Amino acid sequence: MSQYWSPLVKSLTPYVPGEQPKITNLIKLNTNENPYGPSPKVLEAIRSVADDNLRLYPDPNADQLKQTIADYHKVNKSEVFVGNGSDEVIAIAFQALLKQAHPILFPDITYSFYPVWSDMYEVTYNTVPVTDSFEIDIQSFNQKNGGIIFPNPNAPTGRLLALENIKALLEMNTESVVVVDEAYIDFGGTSAIELVKDYPNLLVIQTLSKSRSLAGMRVGFAIGHADLIEGMERVKNSFNSYPLDKPAQAAATASFLDEAYFQGCCTKVIASRDQLTQELTQLNFEVLPSAANFVFAKHSTEDAEALAQQLRDRSIIVRYFNKPKIDQYLRISIGTQEECDSLVTALKEILK
Ligand SMILES: *Cc1c(COP(=O)(O)O)cnc(C)c1O
Repeated sequence: MSQYWSPLVKSLTPYVPGEQPKITNLIKLNTNENPYGPSPKVLEAIRSVADDNLRLYPDPNADQLKQTIADYHKVNKSEVFVGNGSDEVIAIAFQALLKQAHPILFPDITYSFYPVWSDMYEVTYNTVPVTDSFEIDIQSFNQKNGGIIFPNPNAPTGRLLALENIKALLEMNTESVVVVDEAYIDFGGTSAIELVKDYPNLLVIQTLSKSRSLAGMRVGFAIGHADLIEGMERVKNSFNSYPLDKPAQAAATASFLDEAYFQGCCTKVIASRDQLTQELTQLNFEVLPSAANFVFAKHSTEDAEALAQQLRDRSIIVRYFNKPKIDQYLRISIGTQEECDSLVTALKEILK
């Protein structure tokens, strides 16, 4: 704490990301990264821009990337916003769309960055409890609000809200923006992007960090009515003209052009998730149904924090949240099949 900090900075409690340990030979199942690398075509695209032209600024509007995303998702380019990771895209949505007279709403069990951005941008919020089975109940969002945001599938539970429910929520909530954070949608859900044409207050946000194996490049995007996007562009262009560097624009564009590789990775992750779910269940874990690239699991007798530590002693890192309602759960990212097998072997040893 410094006397020179602004009062706002003194009041902040920043988000703490899952650790990125500097240890080698670790089985890293704590931050939902894709266990498979990006497409070889993506790597080639990055190499192709590593030349003298890096002395020039990148395209501030990322036109080619936006057009590629628009074509991929069958929307207009004016309905696409891109940013430096979806974390940045969400932060901009907070400033541009969610800072309103009424408090915004999000689930009580959700992405823990939402309250951090709320505090940072002085957005008031109320949390809405998820059900006992960790489902989002849209009826509980039926109250006056300045906006609604939730991940679908939700994090860290992995639970999916069906598209009909999102539609029902949009029918009920027309006066404020509904942001659906689809960081994990490619692992088992149907995107709400198809609803954008019918609901001018819907903003869907996706990332290339998880399903497209590009967490290290930092690319995310939003799709919504052109007026919502224009509001976000105003904030972006009042803050940073060049959030996406040239390698990131090239990599992201190439990713959308290699559908077979993308689908292949998603299929492998989904198969490993379903197998891991069965194996954990046999080891007396209760595993929430997951549509994401992680599972959220609770053992019938063993303490979650102790289990996380014992896995760590065996060089396997999973995520543990010391928070009410979820402090007996572990969030386990889906690794390669070999990594999942090593996890199961380690758990069998610990639990025997
Ligand atoms: C990982 C994640 C993000 C952030 O992704 P980046 O694009 O890497 O910034 C956003 N929302 C949720 C729910 C996530 O899990």
